[in-house]
Amino acid sequence: MIQPLVAWFQESQRPLPWRVSYDPYHVWVSEVMLQQTQVETALPYYERFIQEFPTVEALAAADEQRVLTLWAGLGYYRRAKNLMAAAREVVEKHNGRIPPDYDALIALPGIGQYMAGAILSIAFNKAYPVVDGNVRRVLSRVYGWKDENPRALWDAAARLAQGAEPRFVNQALMELGARVCSFKSPRCLICPIQSSCIAFRVGMQDQIPSVKKRPATVRVHLFAVVHKKADRYLMKPAEGMWEFPMFQELPQGAFKKIGACRHTITHHRFDVSVYEGDLEEADYVWKDVSAVPISSLTRKIWGQVT
Ligand code: SF4
Repeated sequence: MIQPLVAWFQESQRPLPWRVSYDPYHVWVSEVMLQQTQVETALPYYERFIQEFPTVEALAAADEQRVLTLWAGLGYYRRAKNLMAAAREVVEKHNGRIPPDYDALIALPGIGQYMAGAILSIAFNKAYPVVDGNVRRVLSRVYGWKDENPRALWDAAARLAQGAEPRFVNQALMELGARVCSFKSPRCLICPIQSSCIAFRVGMQDQIPSVKKRPATVRVHLFAVVHKKADRYLMKPAEGMWEFPMFQELPQGAFKKIGACRHTITHHRFDVSVYEGDLEEADYVWKDVSAVPISSLTRKIWGQVT
């Protein structure tokens, strides 16, 4: 199955910027952004990020607020912080060269088994496996594994990566899962590995892999208060970002409702009522919202004001 899989990838891969030279830094940044984020969404963020921080040295020397500002909207901000911390370690301990070595990579902040495998295989063409959600779905269907067995999946991916071009095999599996072997409607008739696929042979694509029960949605109602003076707002720091003050109950005072917004993070749904009014200035900091890193939720709240 490797040969038709790789041939399909080489013919129909999307022309993505990190695939031009497979520069290890570019591959690393792209993989960090693509965790939890679709390619189309991540692409403009990637372009802006690499334009401002073209090398690992530039990222290591960057101001964290600026990095988070460029990351704002991608979510999962810990990824950006770990990327920065790891860039600093690469500069300090590895002379600015991303180490082509599993043990050295996995010792860096934010790099686990998946990320180390992705960097080693895609950037350095080394025979290391990757198993993300797309690869998990493709391999489960190919081998007819209804119930998830992480060890078996990683072993299968490792065997496939032993071929001549682990870079292409791993990307092909990921790309096939994203574009052909989709969760709801796999396009088996155009699939390059159809003849190797047990799920297709027995007509069980819609049952493999079995669907995990999702946690129930937790609904949270919050009250955001915006207090504006000239072009600045009272804000509070939140893990390197800035946000409007939010409360579980509206504080006492003369507040006027100006809007509402909704935001979902994993299985939490936030319904936010937005008010304007005066807050205790000493508790917060005056900030120009357009000049500080803010989350998507804060941007939505800001959108109720402007
Ligand atoms: S034949 Fe269908 S189910 Fe099997 S890998 Fe291809 S797209 Fe997925």
